Amino acid sequence: MSILKVARMGHPVLRARARALARSDIKSAAVQQLIDDMMETMAEYHGVGLAAPQVHQGVRLFVASLNAGEDGEESDEAFAIINPEIAVVGSDVVEDWEGCLSIPDLRGRVPRAREIRVRALNRQGERIELDAHDFPARVIQHETDHLDGVLFFDRMRSFESLTFLDEYARYWAKD
Ligand SMILES: [Zn+2]
Repeated sequence: MSILKVARMGHPVLRARARALARSDIKSAAVQQLIDDMMETMAEYHGVGLAAPQVHQGVRLFVASLNAGEDGEESDEAFAIINPEIAVVGSDVVEDWEGCLSIPDLRGRVPRAREIRVRALNRQGERIELDAHDFPARVIQHETDHLDGVLFFDRMRSFESLTFLDEYARYWAKD
């Protein structure tokens, strides 16, 4: 496995729409390697999610490491989500802090749907469906946005909350 270079804001790959992966592609050694490398890269930089365009690969794939929530599978193991389709459940929108490995050292408050249902493929190419709410739902929406060339700045209602990490820790972090 290897740690991949993370594209930073301004790199065009972050603004392009990524292409869907065919099931036969998912099982290829190249994609399996990419998933392993993305998981290692995410862990190295203490991310909770990492999308393929962030490592210069324009495919609809992200990895995340969080408690999946509703589905019973409570685990901190990293997992891969491929070709995700998100349906918003209900009308609750919550605003909370986000950061991004492609936008280092900044945090901002971003409104997101509280609850979503996700249809996708896993790294074995199997169809999966999961319900997520609150933090995991936020991460999944953030990462899926990357597959459409959308960054969290684009979703902010105002830039008033934009905060450097040091100031975030000093004034805004809850613990
Ligand atoms: Zn991001």
